This record gives sequence, structure tokens and C-alpha cells, in this order.
Amino acid sequence: MEDNCIFCKIARGDIPSATLYEDEDLRVILDLGPASKGHALVIPKEHAANLFELSDETAQKVIVVAKKVAAKLKEGLCADGLNLVQNNGAAAGQTVDHFHMHLIPRYENDTVNVGWTPGELSDTDKAEILKLFQ
Ligand code: 5GP
Ligand code: ZN
Repeated sequence: MEDNCIFCKIARGDIPSATLYEDEDLRVILDLGPASKGHALVIPKEHAANLFELSDETAQKVIVVAKKVAAKLKEGLCADGLNLVQNNGAAAGQTVDHFHMHLIPRYENDTVNVGWTPGELSDTDKAEILKLFQ
């Protein structure tokens, strides 16, 4: 637990939250500033600032719980789709430096914006990136 980390306090129950699910390792809460009806956050109890600090063990638990809660939200709220969003670093839109995954139910004609304008994959970028994985 990190001092002054709001999500550590929420995940451990020191600060009350609208909790949809809790187990030994994780808490799933409703986002205070929802992008859509049902917007929820999967928050590990163990502090990791972002994906790069997250243990493999916790990462596995996060996706399994996200899958279960996502299915229940989608069905229960009659959503038409759902985005999983997970921001790392200010440049990527992260505002709370404790790893969390967003579950954002989507509705036909909603105004949620998690999109981007498609670019073009250049040959030089492709070669550079593929080389990293050789
Ligand atoms: P990020 O931008 O870091 O990916 O997402 C942070 C999210 O946490 C935002 O969607 C914001 O609305 C939500 N949030 C920030 N503080 C609180 C809080 O105290 N309680 C709850 N439930 N959500 C919070
Ligand atoms: Zn924390």
C-alpha cells in the first residue's frame, strides 16, 4: 500500500466506494465520473502504478474478473457493446497512478469517445518494430 494513493485506500476499503465485486486481490467499483451507464474500474489491492509494474499473477486475475463483471454489466444494462480501456502514463490519459482497468459499457449512438483516426503503417516503422521482437 502506498501512502496517499487514493486507489489503494478504495481497493482496501478505507474509503467507501460503490463496489460491484470484491475478493482477496481485487475490487471492482463504479467510476465517479462515468463515460457511460455502468462504467466500472477493476482495481487490484496490491499497489502497482501501471501495467509495467503489475505482477503477472495480478494481471491474470484482473482479466478474469474483468471478463465476468463485463458480461454481467452488458447483460444487466442491455448494453450493445463494451470497451476495456487501460491507460498507462499521462501521455496515455492516466490520471490515477495505481493500475486500473476501465469497463465501459457501450450503447448504440452513445457519445463515448475511445476512438482514433487510423494512420498508415510505414515500411520503416514496421521494420523497426518487428526487429524488437526478433
Ligand atoms: P485514468 O484516467 O487514470 O485511466 O482513470 C481514472 C478514473 O478514476 C477516472 O475515470 C475517474 O473518473 C476515476 N476516479 C478518480 N477518482 C475516483 C474516486 O475517488 N472514486 C471513483 N469511484 N472513481 C474515481
Ligand atoms: Zn495504490
